[in-house]
Amino acid sequence: MLYTSTRNSAIKVSAAQAIASGISEDGGLFLPVSIPELSLNDIEKLCGLSYMDRAVEILKLYLTDFSLEEIEKCVNGAYGGGKFDSPDVAPLVKLNDKKYALELWHGPTCAFKDMALQLLPHLLTESVRKTDSKKTTVILVATSGDTGKAALDGFKDVENTQIIVFYPEEGVSPMQKLQMITQEGENVNVCAIKGNFDNAQNGVKAIFTDKNIKSELNNNNMAFSSANSINWGRLAPQIVYYVSAYCDLVSSEVIECGDKINFVVPTGNFGNILAAYYAKMMGLPIDKLVCASNANNVLTDFIETGTYDKNREFFTTISPSMDILISSNLERLLYMMSGNNDEKVKAWMNELNSQGKYSIDEEMISKLQEHFICGYCDDEKTKEAINREFAECNYLCDTHTAVAAETLHGYAKNGEENIVSVIASTANPYKFPKAVLEALSAEDVSKISEFQALDKLNEITGVPIPARLSSLKDKEIRFSNVCEQKEMADITLKMLGIK
Ligand SMILES: *Cc1c(COP(=O)(O)O)cnc(C)c1O
Repeated sequence: MLYTSTRNSAIKVSAAQAIASGISEDGGLFLPVSIPELSLNDIEKLCGLSYMDRAVEILKLYLTDFSLEEIEKCVNGAYGGGKFDSPDVAPLVKLNDKKYALELWHGPTCAFKDMALQLLPHLLTESVRKTDSKKTTVILVATSGDTGKAALDGFKDVENTQIIVFYPEEGVSPMQKLQMITQEGENVNVCAIKGNFDNAQNGVKAIFTDKNIKSELNNNNMAFSSANSINWGRLAPQIVYYVSAYCDLVSSEVIECGDKINFVVPTGNFGNILAAYYAKMMGLPIDKLVCASNANNVLTDFIETGTYDKNREFFTTISPSMDILISSNLERLLYMMSGNNDEKVKAWMNELNSQGKYSIDEEMISKLQEHFICGYCDDEKTKEAINREFAECNYLCDTHTAVAAETLHGYAKNGEENIVSVIASTANPYKFPKAVLEALSAEDVSKISEFQALDKLNEITGVPIPARLSSLKDKEIRFSNVCEQKEMADITLKMLGIK
């Protein structure tokens, strides 16, 4: 299986090359030139397997330049050894006869990014080795919260890698900050930036493209790479859990193999729902993919009208991991839906860059709407959904999952929904304890600490607090550095021991 770029179909690279380089030189994203098929017979066979074995079977269809042993080693390293607190890795929980939650937050950081970021370090080191590089890989991350911690945890103590995370001093939640500054591991570094997420992001981009720094690294036998969600190595692991959820429904006789189901996905960068689209294209019987947004509803408008327009007010919401106006993974969908038209994709992305908007044609709009349903809700509705799901289904949603639950509620109300829907549950509710508590009680959360909010939420709901979050209170703080954006390059070299 070869990979090409969304902006230049002439490019052909192996999976290892695509993963090792992260992004194509033309600025496009790598994607497989064709989509492997999964027959109903294949799916039935997968039903009898564990999550890890299902992962090996799916990944080997995409990573054809990896040996079976290599894939098994990567999968075991990611999901084995008690790293996930559920033996099923991504368990399916029944909410009612027609509604299930696919819990993607049983990994070390209690959010869905772990599903990909626990596997990516293994895929990346294997890919770098395959491309015959003997260099140490240096992962630089600018984060607004969840990605930084998940990347730190995934890359900690992985051989031949160093990871450095920059976060905005005032721009992450208290829980997210604590998770990062207490991170263990010999090869990890964390630094706060005076400024916002854009400052951190721009600083990292400047380091990536600085020729002097690049050659300094080269002289020291090191090279940069990215753990960002545009890396194919983050998308492939996400296809697995959609197939696995379907198998679980078949195994428990909720559906018969071949019956169609819906997936409802709380969406930000479009990575998670794009993986579901891949599963559908492979042959997994999926009816609709429901794309759920918060008040930053740029995708809702795009799916309804065919115009993507990021020129709009940016809202800070209680579902911060979806506060995004440029959904970068959409580029892969555009490429596939336009019939692999790299010229068109390039033109749209140029328009997005220069005017902040672009429009697709009627034919593509109807293709898009054939697969995708969309909806959005604001913070008030999100809290209502947390309340409703807990009262009616005894299920405690985090703020992101609640956006999906609310969107499905709107869709199902129209009487259109008789088939089983699976909601992607993307974070443990205790990761956003104040907002969830506020939804369920009259508590004035501004007067209490994060940890008090954990305890109160536990008192009200009886849902256990993950030890991984409650134990943060007593962990040693390892990283208290704060720097200016202009100091980031210097700090990076110092952290790598070059200066
Ligand atoms: C990142 C994230 C999302 C959005 O996923 P995308 O792949 O960016 O669409 C949703 N919920 C949570 C909790 C996340 O961390």
